[in-house]
Amino acid sequence: MPELTVPELLELDRRHVWHPYGPMPGRQEPLVVESASGVRLRLADGSGELVDGMASWWSAIHGYNHPVLNEAARGQLERMSHVMFGGLTHGPAVRLAKLLVDMSPEGLEHVFLADSGSVSVEVAVKMCLQYWRSLGRPRKQRLLTWRGGYHGDTWQPMSVCDPEGGMHELWSGVLPRQVFVGPPPVAYEESYAEQLRAAVERHADELAAVIVEPVVQGAGGMRFHSPAYLRVLREACDAHDVLLVFDEIATGFGRTGALFAAEHAAVTPDVMCVGKALTGGYLTMAATLCTSRVADGISRGEVPVLAHGPTFMGNPLAAAVACASIELLLGQDWLTEVKRIEAGLRDGLAAASDLPGVEDVRVLGAIGVVQLDHAVDMKAATEAAVREGVWLRPFRDLIYTMPPYVTGDADVARIARAVCAAAREG
Ligand SMILES: *Cc1c(COP(=O)(O)O)cnc(C)c1O
Repeated sequence: MPELTVPELLELDRRHVWHPYGPMPGRQEPLVVESASGVRLRLADGSGELVDGMASWWSAIHGYNHPVLNEAARGQLERMSHVMFGGLTHGPAVRLAKLLVDMSPEGLEHVFLADSGSVSVEVAVKMCLQYWRSLGRPRKQRLLTWRGGYHGDTWQPMSVCDPEGGMHELWSGVLPRQVFVGPPPVAYEESYAEQLRAAVERHADELAAVIVEPVVQGAGGMRFHSPAYLRVLREACDAHDVLLVFDEIATGFGRTGALFAAEHAAVTPDVMCVGKALTGGYLTMAATLCTSRVADGISRGEVPVLAHGPTFMGNPLAAAVACASIELLLGQDWLTEVKRIEAGLRDGLAAASDLPGVEDVRVLGAIGVVQLDHAVDMKAATEAAVREGVWLRPFRDLIYTMPPYVTGDADVARIARAVCAAAREG
């Protein structure tokens, strides 16, 4: 196959290639990226570079083409890219598991390496259901969550995504029916805490677990909430024999100003999912961590194994890069960088508050959000950001950014200007 010109590539892309949440053939022309380095994406059409305000959907925390991550990948490539994980093990996977256990909230001891965030949520749900089966309580098989969440696109995760923003309507009657409570308010409200407690108590006999994104709800609406609700959930789950799952796939690895958002509440969940930034945005890998209570419960059951084992489980290449990414993160003052970006976004996005059509502006850690009072005109908003030299990918009524932690002050300011421009024109 010869090299393709940009127009040829776009034509074939439109005809043959699915994009996320896309129709076939594609209706919106994507930008063609030729390479990426630092915080910049280089476009193939010769029009130059864009500062990446999205960190490739939360994942590229150290930026692109990072020498340390490149070296980790190259070194592992020369040893082995992959070997099966059934009956075999290797340094990268074991080192990664140990790093994750050491850095995650106290009590999470066991690590299941999955190949994507959605799969790690499937595994989390399977762990919880199987735990109660093993304990002779098979009726405990539903999940409780709050509205406004996003947990991935495979079956179980879809069933706990927000019923309106997600694809529930399309799949009603097919998806498992879960228990929903209203979305968590930004500030602590005792009446909402009471609703959470009451819902857990009322459904305790049928609930395997409560699953939520702690502190920041990502793709379900980019909403923030008081960490105090996590303590309410922890107490309610303990009181009524329900497991607690935190989906930290978006929030993990420092994004909210804590290594994991659970730390804002000093709560340990029974099961925790990580992904996205796990490999610094290099390769697809996620992980499901659990406590010894959950692992022991499963392992004492009639079927004393966790029956899950993807072909590419523990992929050495991804695991080696993940180890390097975590060591890079922990070896620097990441919190200062996240706080610096937080301050830059607060400054730069303040201007958006006065724009017509802007409903809310919010910043937490290295996350900035402008919410409009109408659906974003994707094309107009994206083009406005590109004119400012920035890549953004708005959705629904949201224009948002979560840049790599290595984004310098001038580029943070530029991203904020682009968000404002997108809000004005979108
Ligand atoms: C992205 C995301 C997922 C799904 O991860 P994939 O790797 O896209 O399957 C699940 N939960 C949360 C909170 C996410 O942000």
